[in-house]
Amino acid sequence: MARQPHIVLFPLLAQGHIIAFLALAKLIARRYSGRFTVTIVSTPLNVRSLRQSLPPESGVLLREIPFRSADHGLPPDTENTDSVTGEGLEKLLGASASLRPQFERLIAEEITREDGRPPLCIIADVFFGWTVQIAEKLGVFHAVFTTCGAFGTAMYFSMWLHRPHRHTTAEEFWVPGFPEGFRFRRSQLPRSLTSLEDGSFGIAFMTEHITLSMSSKAMLCNTVEGLEPVAMALLRKIAGLRVWSVGAVVPLETTNSSGRRAGRMAGVDPETCLRWLDAHPPRSVLYVSFGSQNSVSAPQMMALAAGLEATRRPFIWVVRPPLGFDIKGEFKDEWLPEGFEDRTGRSGRGLLVRNWAPQLEILSHPSVGGFLSHCGWNSVLESLSRGVPLIGWPMAAEQFYNSNMLEELGVCAELGRGVEQRVSSVEVERVVGLVLGGEKGEDMRRKAASAAKTMRAASEEGEEKGSSIAALDNFLATVLGTTPPDDNR
Ligand code: UDP
Repeated sequence: MARQPHIVLFPLLAQGHIIAFLALAKLIARRYSGRFTVTIVSTPLNVRSLRQSLPPESGVLLREIPFRSADHGLPPDTENTDSVTGEGLEKLLGASASLRPQFERLIAEEITREDGRPPLCIIADVFFGWTVQIAEKLGVFHAVFTTCGAFGTAMYFSMWLHRPHRHTTAEEFWVPGFPEGFRFRRSQLPRSLTSLEDGSFGIAFMTEHITLSMSSKAMLCNTVEGLEPVAMALLRKIAGLRVWSVGAVVPLETTNSSGRRAGRMAGVDPETCLRWLDAHPPRSVLYVSFGSQNSVSAPQMMALAAGLEATRRPFIWVVRPPLGFDIKGEFKDEWLPEGFEDRTGRSGRGLLVRNWAPQLEILSHPSVGGFLSHCGWNSVLESLSRGVPLIGWPMAAEQFYNSNMLEELGVCAELGRGVEQRVSSVEVERVVGLVLGGEKGEDMRRKAASAAKTMRAASEEGEEKGSSIAALDNFLATVLGTTPPDDNR
């Protein structure tokens, strides 16, 4: 007898993407329990790590496809972008194409044999564009899931496809697909876009995957319609696809994902962080983290430390070796001003966490009043869902656009951009003071609280469904062919 319809999710080999796919898979498995089989496909080490975050009752299954990083000139056991930088990152992205035959075999042979029919749907990462061709060949419904927000994805797609900054020498330029009056500034561009030559791997990779993804049947976006209504309309136009905003999918429970991971990655145990936070007044602590694969430069690290010390405000800082060093390697005291950890630690004002912190637990604690972040989309959603305003310091990818969008929303003040910019300790002190104290900070907190409310309402599963839940229901009904297409989406 054929099993229930099968939904296969396939995230990029990148921690930030895997976290969002995991949250989406859990949501589908829980909400439609017993109606679909939900499987995440990844490489062996990523599957092993996912297993830690997936109790059997989650209803989400895992399947691995073989991958040997050494075959691609990468260090052994390199299966996630969070363990490589620069050239290694390019190699890993390039090597991900080698998963294609194995993925096809898994879908066309193994799963089809076990289920008695092909999967109902493949939900794949934007950067596995070739899955569209496999789905077409097998007659399987294909959707891409962008783990970024609507504005970030729309900008990212248009920038990589059109590279409008190349067609003008002006400082300000128009971005195709955006309204006529919209202007973006050259100085706000990520270096990945400005430094790459035509014909380079980066441009070829982005163009190929974005173009293929735009030939999918549908797109799911990890945002909330009410947070980004204008950007959702733009994304629908730029991608040329029906787009359902099903976010914010962030880990629901705090201990399963980040907590266990914290232990595994030898950062700090969640209890230590929470006890430390308990000792501080509400909304007084700054949390500082640049995500799973970024770090600041050595001079920036010194300036940040000096600025944090000068503010005399409490902080938790996830420290990683500065750019140019192995950012997963051991952290050396010499990268901070002499005696910094002693002074700030002894006074109870600073807690340095090495490599990995239980971020969601920290952001959920009432003592946290601001988040100095690289504006990775998961971090943004986690922060806003807890009503915590941000200080932006984008480093890569669409983070630059996220920071702009958040400033527009009034929930973020930008401190820096990229790894080249000189950021002074005085500026750090000023912006941290602005967000953690004073009227501007209060206003940002109010707006962040309102964003949190919008996000909660969107995920409402009661009789009056929130917009994201209604979107997910509508998407799945569309996949099943049980509802007429909704022209709004
Ligand atoms: N994260 C964490 N502890 C850390 C650093 C990151 O738990 O010390 C988690 C964070 O909660 C988020 C994800 O890792 O869910 C980072 O994703 P994001 O999109 O913010 O940035 P990326 O790592 O993809 O650049």
